Amino acid sequence: MVSAGALDLLRASQAVASRLPAPLAPLARITYNYRWAWLPRGAEVFRDIDAHRWTRCRENPVRFLLETSPETLLAAASSPSLVARAHQLWDAIETEIRASRPATRPVAFLCAEYGVHRSLPIYSGGLGVLAGDILKEASDLDVPMVAVGLFYRSGYFHQRLDPDGWQHESWEETDPQLLPAALVTDAQRHPLTVSLPIFDRLVTFQIWRIDIGRVPLFLLDADRPDNHPIDRWITARLYEGNRTIRLAQYLALGAGGMRALRAMGIDPGTVHLNEGHAALASLELIAEERRAGAGFDEAVARARERIVFTTHTPVPAGNEAYGAQELLPVVGRFFTELGLDAEAVTALGRVHPEDKAEPLGLTPLALRASRAANGVSVRHGDVARTMWRRMYPGRAPEAVPITAITNGVHLPSWMSSPFQQLLDRYLPSGWRSRPTDPQVWQVIDAIPDEELWAAREEARGQLIDLARERSEHDRLRRGEPLDYVDAAARSLSRGQLTIGFARRLATYKRLHLLSLDPERSLRVLSGTPPLQFLFAGKAHPMDEGGKRVLQILFGLKRAPGVAERVVFLEDYDLEIARALVSGCDVWVNLPRPPLEASGTSGMKAALNGSLNLSVLDGWWAEAYDGTNGWAIDGEPDADEGAKDRRDATQLFDLLEKEVMRDFYTRDAGGIPRAWVARIKASLRTLAPRFCATRMVQEYAGRVYRTE
Ligand SMILES: *Cc1c(COP(=O)(O)O)cnc(C)c1O
Repeated sequence: MVSAGALDLLRASQAVASRLPAPLAPLARITYNYRWAWLPRGAEVFRDIDAHRWTRCRENPVRFLLETSPETLLAAASSPSLVARAHQLWDAIETEIRASRPATRPVAFLCAEYGVHRSLPIYSGGLGVLAGDILKEASDLDVPMVAVGLFYRSGYFHQRLDPDGWQHESWEETDPQLLPAALVTDAQRHPLTVSLPIFDRLVTFQIWRIDIGRVPLFLLDADRPDNHPIDRWITARLYEGNRTIRLAQYLALGAGGMRALRAMGIDPGTVHLNEGHAALASLELIAEERRAGAGFDEAVARARERIVFTTHTPVPAGNEAYGAQELLPVVGRFFTELGLDAEAVTALGRVHPEDKAEPLGLTPLALRASRAANGVSVRHGDVARTMWRRMYPGRAPEAVPITAITNGVHLPSWMSSPFQQLLDRYLPSGWRSRPTDPQVWQVIDAIPDEELWAAREEARGQLIDLARERSEHDRLRRGEPLDYVDAAARSLSRGQLTIGFARRLATYKRLHLLSLDPERSLRVLSGTPPLQFLFAGKAHPMDEGGKRVLQILFGLKRAPGVAERVVFLEDYDLEIARALVSGCDVWVNLPRPPLEASGTSGMKAALNGSLNLSVLDGWWAEAYDGTNGWAIDGEPDADEGAKDRRDATQLFDLLEKEVMRDFYTRDAGGIPRAWVARIKASLRTLAPRFCATRMVQEYAGRVYRTE
């Protein structure tokens, strides 16, 4: 285990323990490692002390322990069973951490966002949630890893809709004292800092440590009184709208991250750039080699040996590039300090190095600076090879050095506990530790249909309860008429076919297909047999188009007969995602091919017995086999309007002709046999392949080098 900051976390937990009745002291230790969040019944130890407060604290255990009343804590301390459970939980965590493999040269994982838990709001969507899943899985598999990111004081925005369905954004400040975080200190117990020339100033960063099982996550933070106000803002917001600040963030993440590791005595065997945001880390490594005496080209070659890169999107906005006029005011001094020639560095980041007019692209830089590169699904590997082929003149597309490691999702985090308990009863014991073994999943067929269906009905019911409650609350806040607020409690139905659609409202996700043919949408939505839709998703604050699509969908509910069947859940986050993927019957995804690199929410849905209906793009192109869900044609079409119309028609055809038929065709016992057979096929074929265990094993086996 990495020692930097470990004592600081221990001291922070002791400070919390000192405010607790002595028998509850283990809770303070548990609190300072997110491992509890994915241990079976981990969260229940907190919830059983005070369920209401646990929810109010957004399941943040530090806040929870500090805000729970002394009387409640005393009552908990006098419950022998609760105290025993706290001890058992801490023992389990401590035993696992003690048994970690020693590693002198771990993998350093660099990412702009991390979606670890709802109490740690430093993520926006798929990239961050995937990164969080990778850390948890690396911990489970004991892959030596340290993670580096930025501590965004205000994280990503919260979404509210007004009565017209227009999105508004707000940012909430996070108080690090109320998180399971500690500032890494030096031998004199002063905060350890690193500094970095950004703009024309030296910016100082402090480093927070947060433990994700065996993996420490180090977050750089510029919000210090000794920094200029503009510099303090560098770590204020995730994906800050201002490009200059964003570039400063990328410098902080990449170069600052490498300096932080060095300051903490961590010498990574592999540096994993998870998306191009972290690409500037390569310059620190190149400069290190230069200082050791290598010429520029040799330094690049040596740095490359330590770097691997994962590209996550073919969408242009996800592959940022900066021209010299934008670049040099931010990073010019950094280049000078490192003794790097700005032109030579920029050339590394160009598709055509000799084209002096071309800006520095983060993805080309990361590709040139890494010894291994991969996309995140088989199809995305193809797409990325074609997309970046121009960087490798003379090579055939299949010889472009970008491979594929398909994403996966962390099973213990994404499979609901009732579903895990169902599998506990039927799967071979120890199935959790070998989820990639197809044999384990063959047994799915032995689960009685009745039991599987009962679990699905229960999960849907819970989701509907939550959606009604949320919807009432959202309507009250929007200032809607009270009879409409009341109607929320009657909206949706616990027994009806429930379709989920939740994702970032980026244009390529094509949410607008659902309202492309309004007459047909309304007919399906208000017809029989009944079908109901749950939506969620945020549009980027600057994306007017995305906000308009949201507004149109939001307006659907005004049509007669539809209001009770369509609910939009505001502020899509990890909590809503969990509820949706475990409760919906069908999970819809409509990306414009070939722009969906992978998609992961459908994998989460599959783990819970929800069925995918998706365009054959991203992960679904390699997952769909004709029996385990439904598919819409994935061929790209230059005529986007025509493709949209065809796909919308295919979607509604499938819904009306197959999905509704199979869901509502019941036998005498009320069981939809064909539906349950499809769920079983989905679990059997998808769970072993699209879990994070398979993904991290691939990274560890094919890409990482550690010692
Ligand atoms: C899984 C997840 C995503 C990614 O979903 P996609 O299928 O890639 O669109 C986004 N946001 C949250 C909160 C998630 O949990």
